[in-house]
Amino acid sequence: MIKKIPYGRQSIDEDEIAEVVKVLKSDFLTQGPKVSEFESNFAHAVGAKYAVAVSSGTAALHLSCLALELSAGSRVLTTPITFSATANCVQYCVGEVDFVDIDPSTYLMDLDLLEKKIKSKPSGYYTGIIIVDFTGLPVNTEKLNRIAAEHNIWIIEDACHAPGAGYKDSNDTEILCGSSTYSDLTCFSFHPVKHIACGEGGMITTNDENVYQKLKSLRTHGITKEDLSKSDGGWYYEMQDLGFNYRIPDINCALGISQLKKLKNNIEKRRQIANTYFNAFNDNDSIKLQTQPKDYQNAYHLFVIEVDNRKELYDFLLSKNILAQIHYIPVHLMPYYAKKGFKKGDFPLAENYYEKCISLPIFPTLSKAEQSYIIETISDFYK
Ligand SMILES: *Cc1c(COP(=O)(O)O)cnc(C)c1O
Repeated sequence: MIKKIPYGRQSIDEDEIAEVVKVLKSDFLTQGPKVSEFESNFAHAVGAKYAVAVSSGTAALHLSCLALELSAGSRVLTTPITFSATANCVQYCVGEVDFVDIDPSTYLMDLDLLEKKIKSKPSGYYTGIIIVDFTGLPVNTEKLNRIAAEHNIWIIEDACHAPGAGYKDSNDTEILCGSSTYSDLTCFSFHPVKHIACGEGGMITTNDENVYQKLKSLRTHGITKEDLSKSDGGWYYEMQDLGFNYRIPDINCALGISQLKKLKNNIEKRRQIANTYFNAFNDNDSIKLQTQPKDYQNAYHLFVIEVDNRKELYDFLLSKNILAQIHYIPVHLMPYYAKKGFKKGDFPLAENYYEKCISLPIFPTLSKAEQSYIIETISDFYK
């Protein structure tokens, strides 16, 4: 039988291993030159002014909330179809999360429902929005920005699925995820299952210099040595804010720099795999595919389909050594959030999607033979 096929997998080449070994032999395992090299390469790749590398995507989200001065009791809206970390970062700041249901064809937050929800409350009720480019499909941040600006609400874009993704805005300008053209900040993850594997790691991009300086300070305990009004000597520094140790090692950044160079190629491979799935399942009435709006470039971190007997399909695939996954169990139904009063029925479109969704294997080294085997196995199941 074919060996196990996971839903996602990193690919590390020999030249990338060599880059990591170089760092291991150098003076700096952390806080060395590879961090800023990774940051400037990443900022350049996504078209943002500033990038700050951190220890994880979760750390990126937490620091973003802090940099935007999310305070206790502030209300922030997000989507229920995401990884819990998207909502948890609000709780870390003792804010309050609420959700907006999804568009049942793209699975992204429904921006019309968002606008309705904001308008149903007094002005200033909501402080921020954390939007998710789920599967790698970009949210229409131009439209989102118009809604948010009208109500004085900030935007964090969780683009953990979407480095290299983009869309054309109403001026026909290509908007890259991470350019933060229409968001205050954008967050990325470098967990091995994501596009760029660092082991663990994350990145925040922004065009706001103030926010950038805050992020750099908060990443390392809120400590600074620059522009101080006094000095007791060469050793002098000040801890000005309550920050964290969210630093990323140079070892991880060396890997990140080489992985970033392969991003374009790898996304091209992901798109080919996605196209093969689309062609295979387009005419299959048992399978519903995610709508890909015109002029949107999905980075395809995930390839999700909706089916009726999802559990049976999941178990059948598992028995055939295909390890599909489910993305995601709606966040509001997690026991931690249920304890806050959220319940089944609150976001019916997200819940209905969850009953049917299943993520099929997609990663750059998935072979043609493996993909054919996956497609045949699924087609057999629905015969
Ligand atoms: C992976 C992921 C995160 C968290 O990233 P980590 O690097 O694992 O902390 C946050 N949001 C989304 C949408 C993710 O997929």
